[in-house]
Amino acid sequence: MCGIVGYIGPKQAQPILIESLKRLEYRGYDSAGIAIINEETKKTSKKSELIFRKDQGTIDNLTSILDNNTISGRVGISHTRWATHGPPSKKNAHPHIDCTGKLALVHNGIIENYNQLKDKLIKKGHEIVSETDTEILVHLIEDNYNGDLAMAVRKSLKTVKGSYAIAVIHETEPDRIVVARNESPLILGVGSNENFIASDVPAVLKYTKRVIYLHNKEISIVNNNSIEIMDLDGNTIERDWQEITWNLEDAEKGGFEHYMLKEIFEETKAIREVLRGRVGEIIFPELSIYSNTIFHGIKIIACGTSYHASLTGKYIFERLTRLPTTVEMASEYRYSEPTHDTPLVILITQSGETADTLAAAREARRRGCRTIALTNVVGSSITREVDDIIYIRVGPEISVAATKSFVGQLITLYLLAIFIAEVLGHLKPEPAKELKETLRTLPSVVERVVNNTSEIKNMVKSLVSAKHIFYIGRNINYPSALEGALKLKEISYIHAEGFPAGELKHGPLALLTKDTPVIAILSKDHTYDKIVSNLIEASARNAPVIAITSESDDEIQNIADQVLYYPDVPSLFSPVPVAVILQLVAYYTAKKCGCTIDKPRNLAKSVTVE
Ligand code: GLU
Repeated sequence: MCGIVGYIGPKQAQPILIESLKRLEYRGYDSAGIAIINEETKKTSKKSELIFRKDQGTIDNLTSILDNNTISGRVGISHTRWATHGPPSKKNAHPHIDCTGKLALVHNGIIENYNQLKDKLIKKGHEIVSETDTEILVHLIEDNYNGDLAMAVRKSLKTVKGSYAIAVIHETEPDRIVVARNESPLILGVGSNENFIASDVPAVLKYTKRVIYLHNKEISIVNNNSIEIMDLDGNTIERDWQEITWNLEDAEKGGFEHYMLKEIFEETKAIREVLRGRVGEIIFPELSIYSNTIFHGIKIIACGTSYHASLTGKYIFERLTRLPTTVEMASEYRYSEPTHDTPLVILITQSGETADTLAAAREARRRGCRTIALTNVVGSSITREVDDIIYIRVGPEISVAATKSFVGQLITLYLLAIFIAEVLGHLKPEPAKELKETLRTLPSVVERVVNNTSEIKNMVKSLVSAKHIFYIGRNINYPSALEGALKLKEISYIHAEGFPAGELKHGPLALLTKDTPVIAILSKDHTYDKIVSNLIEASARNAPVIAITSESDDEIQNIADQVLYYPDVPSLFSPVPVAVILQLVAYYTAKKCGCTIDKPRNLAKSVTVE
C-alpha cells in the first residue's frame, strides 16, 4: 500500500526517482526498487535496455546498491512496497519483470483474482518467481503485448479485479510510461518538457505544483511533453491540471495537521480494504479452517488497543457463534500456568512484533492450541509463530496512537465471527446475508462521522480542564469505553478510566464530582435502559454527563448535558462508529491541550520489549 514514482524527461531519472521516493517514506514501507530504460547499451546491440534493481529494506539500502551501479536513462519507475501478499524479500520487491526481461511494472494495491489469473498464466508457460499478487499483472500484460503497451495494459486491466495504481515501462517503447488506477491513489505531475507520476503530491512538489488526478479505471500514456488520459475502452478523457497550493510538510500529511487525524479520515477506505474480496462469500483462503473441528470455545490474546478490539470480539463471537469466548492480556497469559487451553487461540497485534503477544503465541502452541494471528504487517514475526494468519490490510499507520488499525481489527473480527458461525451452522444464509450487507454500509457510516466533527470539537471544550474523565459502556460497548479512555490518556495525558457502567456503583462512583466528566456510550439494545439509569446516578453526583448515542435516540438529550450522535447501525456494529467518535474526541482534546499527538511522550508504535 505504499509509494510509486515515475519520471520521463530530459534529465537523468535515477536521482529524481530516489529523491521523490523518499518524499513518500512517511507512508511506511518494507522494500524498495527502481527500473530505468537505459539508452546507452553499448554492451548489447539493442537501442535501449531495461535495467532494474530492488531489495528488501530502506530506500537508503537501495541507494547504496545504486551507488556502485548507477543506471543512466531518462525514463524510469520506482516503488516502495508495503507487503500485502508475500513477505518482504528481494524477489517480492517491485518492480516485477516479465519473462522477456523487457517489461517492468510497479503496483500499489491488491489484485483480488490473482490466483485464478495465475493458474491460466502458468498453463500458458509463464514463470512466476515471486509470491506477490502483483507479478501476475506483469505476465498478463506480457501476454497481451503486441507492440502497443497502452493497449496491452487496457486489455489486461479489464480482466483484473481489485485495487491498483500501476506504472509500466517497456524497453521497446522508451518514450512513455503507461499508468492506470483503480481505488489506489495516483497523480500525474506536469512539468515543462518532463512529466512525473506519483502516489501522492509530495513526491513531485519539488519539481512541479501542477498535478492531474487520475480517476478510477483510467489509464494514461505519459510522454515528456504530453499526457493522454483514457478509459479502459480507449475513449479519450480531457482533464486540466490543478495548481497545488500546500507546502511540502502539509502535503505529506495530505493537508491534515497530524498523522492521527489523517489516519482517522482514512478509516472509510481502510474498512473497504479489509472487506475487499472477503465479504460476498466470506472466505479466508489464509485459513486452513476447520469445518470438522468442534469448538469448545475461543480465546483471544492481545495487548493495549488490540486487547480492546479482542474484548469487543468476545461479544461479537458470543453473539454470532454462541461459543464461549475469553480474552486475556498477552503479558499475563504468557506467565499463566494451565497445561491445556481452548482449542482455538486468536492473537491480535497491529505490528506483528509485540513481544508479549509473540511469547503468548508460543505458549498457546505449547499448550497444543491451534493459533491464528490477526496482524497488519505482512511477514512480521507473529506470522512465524502461528498456524494461520489473517492480514488486517489497513495500510501503514504512522501515528503512535492506533486508530485505523483498531477499526480494521474490529471489521476482521466481524468477518471471522460470521465465517465461523456459518461453518458451525449457527448462522443461516438469510441472517448471514443481512450481516454482510450491514458490514458493507460501514464505510459510509464512518464517512458521515468523520465529515461531521463540529459537535465533537465543541464538546471537547468541556474536557480540557478535567483531571479525571470516566468512560462507561455496557455489553458490546464496554470495551469501547476502555478504548476511549486509553486513547484519551495516550495523547492528551488526562487521566481517564473506562468502566462497565454497572460497576460504577461498586466503587468508582465515590470519585464523581462536578469536575469529573462521564462519557456514556449507548446503543438502542437490551442494555439501553440500564445505562440510562447509570447515567442518571452519575448526574445525581453533579458529574457532567456526555452521551454518545445513535441518531434515533430522542430521549437522551433530556438527561445528558451534551450528546454526540452516530448514524444508526444495528447495536452489534455500533463499536465501529463509536470508535471513530472516541478517537476524534481524544484527538481534538489533545489538540486543545497543545500535545504532540503523533508521538506521545514515553510511548512507541511497536512494543518489542516485555
Ligand atoms: N500487493 C502488492 C504486494 O504485496 C503491492 C503492495 C503495495 O501496495 O505496496 O507486493
